[in-house]
Amino acid sequence: MRPGPTVSDDNGEGSVFVDAATQSATGIAARAIDVWKVYGSGEAQVVALRGVDVELERSRYTAIMGPSGSGKSTLMHCLAGLDTVSRGEVYIADVKVTGLNDAGLTTLRREKVGFVFQQFNLLPTLSAEENILLPLAIAGRKPDQGWFDTVVDAVNLRDRLSHRPAQLSGGQQQRVAIARALAMRPTLMLFDEVTSALDPELVGEVLDVMRQLAEEGMTMMVVTHEMGFAREVGTWLIFTDGGMVVERGNPTEVFANPQTERLQQFLAKVL
Ligand code: ADP
Ligand code: MG
Repeated sequence: MRPGPTVSDDNGEGSVFVDAATQSATGIAARAIDVWKVYGSGEAQVVALRGVDVELERSRYTAIMGPSGSGKSTLMHCLAGLDTVSRGEVYIADVKVTGLNDAGLTTLRREKVGFVFQQFNLLPTLSAEENILLPLAIAGRKPDQGWFDTVVDAVNLRDRLSHRPAQLSGGQQQRVAIARALAMRPTLMLFDEVTSALDPELVGEVLDVMRQLAEEGMTMMVVTHEMGFAREVGTWLIFTDGGMVVERGNPTEVFANPQTERLQQFLAKVL
């Protein structure tokens, strides 16, 4: 892996992935204010989020944990403008996402937020390089060679660029998906259980890439069941239950001293 700049632990100045758009390592990258999300209506109604307040500080790695169905994916979709909120407000940097029209939302999703899913969603007929550059092509933007090199080195795929997805392992495909998101120089990166579909021996190589990004100052929010990783890399932990954030704080402190019965039960199960 490239010897790239390391993060100073104060403000991440000089790190490549510090909010590439503004080179700012201070302030709030994203914010949810009293966000509610209701799916369906009547008997089929599901309240997925019940007044969630979240602040993602720049250059902070936020791990989000919680039982299945507790609203983790919904929260990330609302933050990314992939889903509308029923009530409340979402901001990415200074942009009020919940006030954007369709064109504004498209730009936001494409340029400000990198989203990586459990499924890689690569185009099978394109090479790794073409997949990485696809969002730029769709946006009609010319790739910047320096940034492309930075991104390719960050995911350690230099020798696989001409391969098509079927010629790549799951871990390599997921790293292509991460590079594709990074190519747009997003303000923040959201990862939703990105290692869940991988064979266990391939999980490490994807976590290594994520660790490197965090060390280089990328603002990240990560749904994960990897408690050890959250404790090691995470500077902030959010625990969700029943559509609410029930605990938050430094991961080591939260794990050591869970305040709610729900988190105590959760930890007892996964430990
Ligand atoms: P998690 O990611 O924590 O497992 P989700 O955010 O996916 O939880 O889901 C939260 C709740 O919202 C669940 O009860 C789920 O069934 C419901 N839900 C999520 N997406 C939809 C949808 N598109 N339509 C209806 N209900 C949904
Ligand atoms: Mg989910």
